[in-house]
Amino acid sequence: PTDINKLADEYLRLAYHGLRARDKTFNAELITDFDESLPMVKVVPQDIGRVLLNLFTNAFYAVQQKQKTAGPDYKPVVTVTTFSPPLANGGRQAVLVVRDNGIGIPEGIRDKILQPFFTTKPTGEGTGLGLSLSYDIIVKAHGGKIEIDSKEGEYTEFTISIPATS
Ligand code: ADP
Ligand code: MG
Repeated sequence: PTDINKLADEYLRLAYHGLRARDKTFNAELITDFDESLPMVKVVPQDIGRVLLNLFTNAFYAVQQKQKTAGPDYKPVVTVTTFSPPLANGGRQAVLVVRDNGIGIPEGIRDKILQPFFTTKPTGEGTGLGLSLSYDIIVKAHGGKIEIDSKEGEYTEFTISIPATS
């Protein structure tokens, strides 16, 4: 049984400090709101860890890119929230939402981003494997869901849901 809150907290800080080690000028506000009654999920911590690390890295990259073109009033914010709405079948689930106010995802590529090797990042900065791997772990292996909401130039929000029994 894995505690998603604990992993999310650890990996969020890991991703943030990793980025700041390479770019000392980078700053973002981190906001977390963890549901204390989130159910444990039966996933290998390393697997969900890779999913979380990629979601957070993507979010920081998106705000970092926006910071390059936005005016001085732009404040990068990454918000991580967990909650546990009951499933229709009465079961429990762990839901995690990662939101960033970065560059957003253009509508034209939204159906491609889960595909392996699809990336908009320069060579060396992205492999395009993060989200396809996340799809394999969350959806195929655990019967969960990945939902994406985004507005180009404004925000991106990824929601991952994992049934507590998986
Ligand atoms: P990579 O990060 O190596 O590019 P991913 O599978 O993690 O591969 O993401 C694929 C693509 O989806 C990214 O290159 C980017 O175009 C888009 N994307 C993912 N997350 C975000 C985000 N938070 N904001 C904007 N674009 C994103
Ligand atoms: Mg990625």
